[in-house]
Amino acid sequence: MKKIQLFSPVYSVDECLAEIRKCLEAGWTGLGFKTVEFEEAWKNYTGLPNAHFLNSSTQGLHLAMKIFKYELNWREGDEVITTPLTFVSTNHAILYENLKPVFADVDETLCLDPQSVREKIGPKTRAVVFVGFGGNAGKLDEISRICKEYNLVLILDAAHMSGTKYRERHIGSEADCAVFSYHAVKNLSIGDGGMICFKEKALDEKARKWSWMGINNDTFSRAGHGGYKWLYDVEYLGLKAHGNSIMAAIALVQLKYLDRDNEIRRKYCDLYTRLLENNLQIKLVKHFDDCVSSRHLFQIRVPAALRDILILFLNAKEIYPGVHYRLNTDYKMYNYASGTCPRAEEAAKEIISLPLHLRMTEEDVKYICKNINIFLEMISLPLDSNLTDEEVRNVCQKIIKLLRE
Ligand SMILES: *Cc1c(COP(=O)(O)O)cnc(C)c1O
Repeated sequence: MKKIQLFSPVYSVDECLAEIRKCLEAGWTGLGFKTVEFEEAWKNYTGLPNAHFLNSSTQGLHLAMKIFKYELNWREGDEVITTPLTFVSTNHAILYENLKPVFADVDETLCLDPQSVREKIGPKTRAVVFVGFGGNAGKLDEISRICKEYNLVLILDAAHMSGTKYRERHIGSEADCAVFSYHAVKNLSIGDGGMICFKEKALDEKARKWSWMGINNDTFSRAGHGGYKWLYDVEYLGLKAHGNSIMAAIALVQLKYLDRDNEIRRKYCDLYTRLLENNLQIKLVKHFDDCVSSRHLFQIRVPAALRDILILFLNAKEIYPGVHYRLNTDYKMYNYASGTCPRAEEAAKEIISLPLHLRMTEEDVKYICKNINIFLEMISLPLDSNLTDEEVRNVCQKIIKLLRE
């Protein structure tokens, strides 16, 4: 039986190799050349005014925190409102700068809930980080209004959002800074890489120094000292975070197919939805009509008591789903906030990400849904049930029987 993995990126191999070849032949694999070309292509594609290519989106989120902190004179211990339902990069970025993550709860979209964000705003709040979960924009517009009302910086963790359209435009312009990821398993995969897109040109220019050790090589080249390339100044204690031309070469090719690929993702998601929405034990994640999601993820929610067993059952059928994510407040460095986000906590126990990528077929989607439905039919439970130990044992016995079939 063929294995159906959660993610499995595809590349236009010959085209990627041809772009990489140009770098190798030119002897230029670093910053500049293809990185500049890809930045232009990304601005063109998204309509965003600025874009700086980085070696990861983790570095992008860190840079965003660093630059806003520096420019706006935030102090150590100032607060950033964030979600507990995300990849740890989002929240580590806050800690890297000795700022304090304050966790707000999510809503039915699994993105930050505007009401909960309002409740967490205090005198030390400086920013909100919004994660567009799986490509979903949730209630981003309302969050953006709240940020304006309270004069807070809005950072969009758009790691899942390459190609997401929100109110007819590419996502990103709602925030002061949007950070995209092109990590190996993201929906626009290039191996590793990210893009930081500031609303303001001045911050984009600063980001270019911050991302390369704080080096400022404008001064002397502008003054016409062409030969004195070594005579640069170092303005900041910067990071090594910029991207390189090899990754940008792959990105230039992958970007051409992004819309086509996302369209296929959406088609599979529609099929998943049709085949699972009538199952009373399954809750789907809410999507509003104003967002055409990149569909980096397709997630369902099942009764918490059954989630892990369902995954094991699917594994036995050569289907390998994932969980996005464990609640960050369960991790040691964030557990000071344990128990503060009950809806995210509930979701984290119920969610499963089903396989979604371009190597799979509609038949695979049907096969996955059939197995989920069979499993949940045999072990039928109301959504809010809490199993007793005795019941768990019974469930397990049924599973073992199922696995033998
Ligand atoms: C993957 C991911 C990141 C980090 O992206 P990298 O490019 O791997 O650094 C950040 N936030 C979220 C929500 C992610 O899923």
